[in-house]
Order: sequence, then structure tokens, then C-alpha cells
Amino acid sequence: MKVNLAHGAGGETMGELLRTLTNVKNRNAGGIGLESLDDGAVIPVGDKNVVFTTDSHVVRPIFFPGGDIGRIAICGTVNDLAVMGGRPLALSCGMIIEEGFEIIDLERIVRSMDEALTESGAHLVTGDTKVVERGALDKIAINTAGIGIAEKVVRDNGFRPGDRIIVTGTLGDHGLAVLTHREGFEFGEQIRSDVAPVWGLVELALAAGDVHAMKDPTRGGFAHAINDMARKSRTGVIIEEDALPVRRSVRSASEMLGIDPLEVANEGKIVMAVAPGDAESVLSALRTHKYGKEAAIVGKVVEGNRVIMRTRIGGERFIEPPLGDPVPRVC
Ligand code: MG
Repeated sequence: MKVNLAHGAGGETMGELLRTLTNVKNRNAGGIGLESLDDGAVIPVGDKNVVFTTDSHVVRPIFFPGGDIGRIAICGTVNDLAVMGGRPLALSCGMIIEEGFEIIDLERIVRSMDEALTESGAHLVTGDTKVVERGALDKIAINTAGIGIAEKVVRDNGFRPGDRIIVTGTLGDHGLAVLTHREGFEFGEQIRSDVAPVWGLVELALAAGDVHAMKDPTRGGFAHAINDMARKSRTGVIIEEDALPVRRSVRSASEMLGIDPLEVANEGKIVMAVAPGDAESVLSALRTHKYGKEAAIVGKVVEGNRVIMRTRIGGERFIEPPLGDPVPRVC
């Protein structure tokens, strides 16, 4: 059996590959380790929770509407720290570059990384560079690892029946932006990636109420994130389709391409479960932030083991975990 693209797509097929890749005996340094498959690890050091994570980026094309591989390389890692409750502190960057890559493009990527660092409050403190011969790689791959400090660690498995599910903004923007740009489709209003650091949103949410669980819905989109969180929490979820924020341009592009916007990657969003009495105050706090203006309460946690969507026309259907991202190489 050989690795195929679906193995890297964040869905159920990738889960099978992860069983091989996480078959490591030494995988937990005393806190939350590899076995949890959460957004990051937690290593207790003294009275501090050090959050640690890593992410590699191979997005094609490297420049796309709303962002580029540099911005996504910073945001991917700081967001995984943030959704663990970790304030992003320091990052490393490993770049593997194909011979022939334009230096001017590297300069542009680094500028973009620096802007995202400024926004997130983190610093790039160490790195590594390798150059491979032409043809050995498609232009560039960027790995970042990061550490953060969490006052309160938030897991992705903390759903409790009654919790309200909040998404911090519109869904599907990043995946559809990359796909439509890559394939040269025009849909009137240009779809832009939502790639952005989310720590500011996390800080507001944690100060406003009791947040029981968080995850960033990247590969596999909202459909993967909500199923993963429900399964790990051993609960069900009911989602109101009407309440899900999806831009009109994203919706029409999705319909035309036959892609479910709930199954494609977001790079600046959070799915959270909040205690029912705090949901409105967390929502109001999120909406004060420039990246949270379209935050919405989209459903609630219930007893059970399925994610059910009440549709716009009054029916019900399951939101299934996607097998793989319908759009490869989006991050
Ligand atoms: Mg994540």
C-alpha cells in the first residue's frame, strides 16, 4: 500500500495513516501528548503550561487571494497554540526550497510572515534552510513549530450537553479561495482566504465566559472539526443550518463546483463550545474583534453520538466527517 493524496487531507483516510505515524512509545512528556491528537501538546513546566505544536505548509499556489504561504505558515502554528489556550510566544521556521526559486518571492513571503507575527504577538526565534535540486520539490515547503503559554488549557474534547456551539466567522473561505484561484474560476466577487491569527479572539472569549472546548477547523473544514470534537467528547451535536455563516460568493462557488463549504479548510476561524449561560456574552465579545464580526451561535451539544443538522427546509441530516478534503494542498 502506498501513500496517496487523501492520506494528507485531514479526513478519515488521514486518520488511518496517523495510526502508523503515531505508533511511538515515547509520546507524552507528562501532560497532553501525541495520543490525544489535539491541536498541540501540553508540557507542564513548574506551574506553567507550555503548549507546543508544529505544522508544515505546501499550499499551491504560494500566493493566493487574501494570503500566501508565509502568512499561512505563521497562522497555522499560532492558531493551533491559541485553540489550546496558549498565548503564542516563539516559533521556529524550517524552509525547504527548490533550486531556481525567485529570491524576490522569498522576500515577499518573509515580509508576510513578519506581518502575521506582529499581529499574533509571537516572535520567530530560530530556523533552518535546505535547498533541493530542481524537480525534487514543488517550489517550497515551510515548517513552523511554536510554543505558547496557557493560563488555562482548553482541549478539543470538552463538550458537555447543553453547551452552545459558536463559530467565530464565515466558513469555507480559505478552501474556496485557493481552489477558485488555482483553477481560474471567476465568480463575480473574488473569494478571499480568511487566513489570520486567532489569539485575539481566544483572549476575548476566555475573558467573557466558560469555554469548554476549542478547535480550528482547518483541513476537513467545519464538518471534520465538529465530528472530531463530538466523538472525542462522547456527545452528539445539533447544528442549525440557517445559523451557519457562509458568504454568498462561497455558497454559489460551492454549488457550482459540487463542493460542500463545510468540508473545506478555514485558516482564521475557531469552533468553540461554551457553557449555555455564557454563550451570549462570549458571542458579543467575539464580535468586537475585526476577525469575529460574523461570529454566530450555530447549535448545541446534546446527548448522543451523531452530528445532526436541522436543514433550512425543516428536515434533518447527518453532518458526516469528510473522507478527505475535496481540495488538496490548501495549506
Ligand atoms: Mg488545529
